[in-house]
Amino acid sequence: MSYTLPVGLDYEGQLLRDVEVASPTGGLLKRMRDVMTGKDRTAIYRIALEFGLQSIDGIQGKPSKEILGRLYFPDVEFIYHCMALLDCDGEWPRVMRSCPRCEREFKQEIDLSKATVLALDGSGKSKFDNDTRSIPFTLGTGVRTLDATEAEHKDGRIGILTFDDWSTVTASKLLFGSSMLQSIARAIVELGPAGRGEVSAADLEKLPAREVKKLESLYNDNVPGVQFPGTVDCPYCQETFPVPPIDVVSDFLLRSAG
Ligand SMILES: [Zn+2]
Repeated sequence: MSYTLPVGLDYEGQLLRDVEVASPTGGLLKRMRDVMTGKDRTAIYRIALEFGLQSIDGIQGKPSKEILGRLYFPDVEFIYHCMALLDCDGEWPRVMRSCPRCEREFKQEIDLSKATVLALDGSGKSKFDNDTRSIPFTLGTGVRTLDATEAEHKDGRIGILTFDDWSTVTASKLLFGSSMLQSIARAIVELGPAGRGEVSAADLEKLPAREVKKLESLYNDNVPGVQFPGTVDCPYCQETFPVPPIDVVSDFLLRSAG
């Protein structure tokens, strides 16, 4: 089936957005489950992406590993979402939830068609610029560790994480704080003299916490892609509570439908 990526791939000066996505098969399920016990959780996601992304309009043949790595991660999540939609055939998958008020467990049906897709093509809800795929920022306190002169650098741009960025951070099995800082560092595509991949987590460690939190919110509040409604109602006591973010691969593609 043909779909339009919410962000698109930068390729030889063009932005490629039209892709063909395949419906998951038993063979894919077997291959994903075969690597579930392995050390690297990202292997499952790579197998799913290699299978699901049949072709990109503008690139001959099956996309190479290098191309897959350059895809923006929100686009990759969108491809997983399309695969789940193709597979569920109108029967929505259910996930276990535990009510924080009455503490009873229940299954929540996830209507995948209710997800909204925030694209970067002028919907106006994201601060990410469609041409540069980034948002400019100015820090209140700058970073002094980027060059030998120890000059303070405050102005930069935050971009969108790629599949390679996500895989590297996830495969490192870092604790929550470390992976958050690594992700922000990798998302920065410009800060003073530093370009993409040239800001490290250590550079951000000396910043006041509020600056790091501002960068984190700037990314999380504006990142494009698939978004699910963030709350669920308990069927027993009617309490409405926030649900954890949905991971389409582990919540749907790997699980049984019931
Ligand atoms: Zn309840």
